[in-house]
Amino acid sequence: MEILNEIRFSMPSLSQNESAARAAVSSFIVQADPTVEELSDIRTAVSEAVTNAIVHGYRGTCGRIDLVVRLLPEREIYIRVKDCGCGIADIKKAMEPLFTTAPEEERSGLGFSVMESFMDKISVRSDVGRGTTVTMRKKLSVHGC
Ligand code: ATP
Ligand code: MG
Repeated sequence: MEILNEIRFSMPSLSQNESAARAAVSSFIVQADPTVEELSDIRTAVSEAVTNAIVHGYRGTCGRIDLVVRLLPEREIYIRVKDCGCGIADIKKAMEPLFTTAPEEERSGLGFSVMESFMDKISVRSDVGRGTTVTMRKKLSVHGC
C-alpha cells in the first residue's frame, strides 16, 4: 500500500474521546480537500466505529483505542479503528441491519450499516476476548478548478 501521509493516535475508551477522534480525523483529512458531505460522512463513520469500541468492545471497562488514518493515492482515505476488547463472535450477524446486543440501551443496531453506506469499503476482523479492528476506505471525488 503506497501511503502519501498518515497519522496514528491512541486514546483511552472514554466517551468524551469520541468527539476528539472525530475532530482529529477531520483535521487530517481536510488536506485532501473533501466536500462538506464527504467530510461529514467520514466523521459519522469514525464516530460509529469509536462508539462501538467504547460501548461494546470495552463495555464498562477502560482500554485503549488505536486509530490510523492514511491518505492513499487517488484521493483515497483509509481509516483503521482497533480495540482490544471483548471481540465479536459472529461478525456477519453483528453487521446485519438492526442487530444489536444492547437493545436495553436503546441502541438501534445501525452503526455498521451507517459505516457501510457512508464509506466505500469496510472490513471487520475480530477475535473473541482479543478485540476488534474495523478498516474503512473512501475515495474522495475529484472536484474544484
Ligand atoms: P447503534 O450503533 O445503532 O447504536 P449497535 O452499536 O448495537 O447500535 P452496530 O454498531 O451495528 O449496532 O453493532 C452491532 C453489534 O455488533 C453490537 O450490538 C455489538 O454486539 C457488536 N459490536 C460492534 N462493534 C463491536 C466492538 N468493537 N466490540 C464488540 N462488539 C461489537
Ligand atoms: Mg454501534
